[in-house]
Amino acid sequence: MARVAFLGLGVMGFPMAGHLAAKGHEVTVWNRTGSKAEAWVARHGGKAAPSAREAAAGADFVMACVGNDDDLRQVCTGPDGAFAGMAAGAIFVDHTTVSAQVTREMAEAAAAAGLGFVDAPVSGGQAGAENGVLSIMCGGDQAQYDAAEPVMTAYGRTVKRIGDSGAGQLAKMVNQICIAGLVQGLAEALHFAEKAGLDGAAVVEVIQGGAAGSWQMVNRHKTMLENRFDFGFAVDWMRKDLGICLDTADQIGASLPGTALIDQYYKDVQRMGGGRWDTSSLIARLRVMDKG
Ligand code: NAP
Repeated sequence: MARVAFLGLGVMGFPMAGHLAAKGHEVTVWNRTGSKAEAWVARHGGKAAPSAREAAAGADFVMACVGNDDDLRQVCTGPDGAFAGMAAGAIFVDHTTVSAQVTREMAEAAAAAGLGFVDAPVSGGQAGAENGVLSIMCGGDQAQYDAAEPVMTAYGRTVKRIGDSGAGQLAKMVNQICIAGLVQGLAEALHFAEKAGLDGAAVVEVIQGGAAGSWQMVNRHKTMLENRFDFGFAVDWMRKDLGICLDTADQIGASLPGTALIDQYYKDVQRMGGGRWDTSSLIARLRVMDKG
């Protein structure tokens, strides 16, 4: 069993850190808002530290799941950041969805300090984190990945190294590009079914096992038909992720015309007050458009 620090106890981090404790790892948590760390310790035991630096001291692995590029920088290299507390040879594992650029920056800073760094963004949402069945796509040095992989299996069902530093984040971008198109397609299909006077659930029952089937169709059609959007990944986070995808696409010369358009549709959903709705809320935008 390892000594593990976990930084960032949000929707994802809280249950992920819980799985580490359940597997018998010695876990120290830190959260910017201290009350969440206290709640975590009350539920799972372990210890809470007053800063990322102190949480990281003495840990073999430091896992993080915070918000965006700037948040990751602060948590790693800020004045009270983890790198300042980590012992030589310890490995930082980043589960945040961020750019490949900040990942490489942090990996270089880690290497200069004698530390390891693995980028390890996750897919599977809140339910995946709570049930310990996340997909984790990783980038970094092979030996560092090999050391971290058994720890990540506490909450990851599929854990795989894709390539060097940043490759995990690039794989996560591929995932988000797929999701954007899938959800827009499903939203249009269900909206069309409604307008045509069909029973959407009955249609899905027939087609979900065929070529049009998807995880989104199986897991989200019911709530989309009910106009309920409080299931996991928020539109605000999706726009952050699509922004990263579109910036990266510009840098590498890849065309993402559909993704760029769907990003604008998500912007409309934010304007409708849906920043915290889940990503399947694209159908709400279509309903509003067709009313007017
Ligand atoms: P969340 O519930 O909003 O939690 C964010 C966590 O990061 C909180 O613990 C927050 O601390 C902390 N944080 C943010 N900025 C910070 C900073 N500057 N310094 C220190 N701590 C900071 O978000 P989440 O849903 O868990 O998502 C976390 C990451 O996972 C994001 O990158 C997201 O894109 C990615 N992700 C999310 C999902 C999902 O379904 N939710 C799925 C896959 C990937 P406070 O409590 O103090 O605010």
